[in-house]
Amino acid sequence: MSSGSGTAPRSDVDFMRCALERAVQAQANAEVPVGAVLVHGDAIIAVGSNSPITSHDPTAHAEIAALRAAGRALGNYRLNDTTLYVTLEPCIMCASAIVHARVRRLVFGAWDTRAGAAGSIIDVFALPSLNHRVDVFGGVLSEECAAQLERFFAARRAPRDRGYLRVPVVPAGAATTAGAVGVATTVGPAGALGAGCHSRSVK
Ligand SMILES: [Zn+2]
Repeated sequence: MSSGSGTAPRSDVDFMRCALERAVQAQANAEVPVGAVLVHGDAIIAVGSNSPITSHDPTAHAEIAALRAAGRALGNYRLNDTTLYVTLEPCIMCASAIVHARVRRLVFGAWDTRAGAAGSIIDVFALPSLNHRVDVFGGVLSEECAAQLERFFAARRAPRDRGYLRVPVVPAGAATTAGAVGVATTVGPAGALGAGCHSRSVK
């Protein structure tokens, strides 16, 4: 079942590293770096990168993108027996969508004390009247996930003072063409998924 070269089952940390790569992809497009992957069995069936600015879509969070892609991959609006990995604690919108999608497990990285809906400002998953329970586990690679966001915002606040990270600014309405964004970061090979992080089609 593994889509990678090894045969050992992959861990939460392995999949969170794949989500981190999707966050790098978001950052390459000048978006807040949040990434998600959705796993069925031991296979990534969908990925998502935060993209509300470039897509002109306020709902285009990484989790929503992954859920939509997974629904298409499975041919089902219910994503039973899946696990969603996301680098940041989901917001209220995404937490609600995760419940609606019947995702079995949610694993997230950094806590979002300002907007997180898995315990930070509210715990959507603990609302007693909801008829679906999601197993929630936070804090996987939390330091790496938080550091990525902190670097992004630090660079945006003082881009001239930070040599290690320059985030290109995309004017509103500007077309995002290859080469126009994502050329100034030094955090990794933007767009390149590491071994074992590729999604596969579902039969
Ligand atoms: Zn969200």
